[in-house]
Amino acid sequence: MSEYVGKVMEMVKAKDPAQPEFHQAVEEVADSIQIVYDKHPIYRKMKVLERIIEPERVILFRVPWVDDQGDVQVNRGFRIEMNSAIGPYKGGLRFHPSVNLGILKFLAFEQVFKNGLTTLPMGGGKGGSDFDPKGKSDIEVMRFTQSFMSELFRHIGPDTDVPAGDIGVGGREVGFLFGQYKKLRNEFTGVLTGKGLNWGGSLIRPEATGYGAVYFAAEMLATRGESLEGKTCIVSGSGNVAQYTAEKVLDLGGKVVTFSDSGGYVFDDEGVDRDKLAFVMDLKNNRRGRISEYAEKYPSAVYTPLDPNLDHNPLWDHKADCAFPSATQNEVNAVDAQNLVNQGVYVISEGANMPTVPAGVDIFMENNVLYGLGKAANAGGVAVSGLEMSQNSLRLSWTREEVDNRLKGIMTSIHTQCLEAAEAYGKPGNYIHGANIAGFLKVADAMLDQGVV
Ligand code: NDP
Repeated sequence: MSEYVGKVMEMVKAKDPAQPEFHQAVEEVADSIQIVYDKHPIYRKMKVLERIIEPERVILFRVPWVDDQGDVQVNRGFRIEMNSAIGPYKGGLRFHPSVNLGILKFLAFEQVFKNGLTTLPMGGGKGGSDFDPKGKSDIEVMRFTQSFMSELFRHIGPDTDVPAGDIGVGGREVGFLFGQYKKLRNEFTGVLTGKGLNWGGSLIRPEATGYGAVYFAAEMLATRGESLEGKTCIVSGSGNVAQYTAEKVLDLGGKVVTFSDSGGYVFDDEGVDRDKLAFVMDLKNNRRGRISEYAEKYPSAVYTPLDPNLDHNPLWDHKADCAFPSATQNEVNAVDAQNLVNQGVYVISEGANMPTVPAGVDIFMENNVLYGLGKAANAGGVAVSGLEMSQNSLRLSWTREEVDNRLKGIMTSIHTQCLEAAEAYGKPGNYIHGANIAGFLKVADAMLDQGVV
């Protein structure tokens, strides 16, 4: 760690000692930015990094609601408005019991650079609640969501802050959020993305993050003259990102052998075909069941429950070529990373945000793995959210092909920006430095133009 990165980290930790995920995200970026500062001292003089790590605004609020038994429940709601240098705050809402200020700050911070890479005018934000949608009835989810929006509505708007989904927030939740916003504001605007198709949503938005992560993997493979055809792929998670990652891997001729959830994972040696994928989509999106049911339905699959006493997750210990971590942060530890390498995996495209711990990333780098970090590889979701905002402003709906082509073009452009920035700053082929530097420069230059605000 250089002296400069050390100083920044000391300051961040002293200010917010209980936010380890935020420290992790800042350290990775600061390490890349060091190279930029050596070349262009103006960014250091204007304290750009010091400003970027401080949210422009943090909103924290009470979310009271009444459950089906008539008992009062109280959750905590958050919105981190991190950076608006290049556009309105943009980033998802996460409903999960683990949600806290540090996790949302790491996600909002990552979002700033990711959005900078998309080529679209979007600032960075993130929000959510420690509410756990698991086991709640639809009506309970609606009551909670309406209470959440009853406070959030005064802070957001189509030109101010445009939330979307993330873990625990899908089409159902975005619908309830939009309905309540519309009622309180008495206006029908593009204040959220991930909306239903018949009320302002964009085709390909549900698919975008997973499709984008696979397009990014295909771009990385192409640098070695290869494609996804015939590649065996490990996918974690079984939610939105995992499902559409699997679909696009199938489209491109690859084979998916795993899915997981917080209870464990299934390994299907025969591969997940279209029928099996349809089963997973119905299981997770409609019946809201557990992935273990996949192994009950398909005898070719083996279910392994998560064992908290193990120092690794056996999900990452199968023979494969590519891995798509698509569940949550820090789901790949150093032992898992070594297992992936030992099993022949040489392409990692992160659908999830920061799913690999720093020691795991080091192992990928040492082994010449094509490593597509989350802020580049999973930017397709927010990119199509940006396209949804454009369509809302134009009051037009583009076709599936049009949006998919734009998504593909954006993923190619992100890949190119990463490689060009990495090359220009003396780190050829390094997607980590490339993504951090390209995202930083876009936002930092706008901040310099706009003065000390
Ligand atoms: P979903 O809620 O649809 O699915 C999340 C999946 O991850 C579920 O299978 C869930 O299992 C599993 N999971 C969540 N938390 C944990 C945990 N702590 N331990 C183990 N498994 C867990 O979310 P998404 O698919 O939308 O998001 C997945 C990842 O992708 C997140 O990191 C998110 O930030 C990132 N992402 C999402 C985007 C989007 O457009 N949706 C855009 C960019 C990134 P279970 O059901 O048991 O909790």
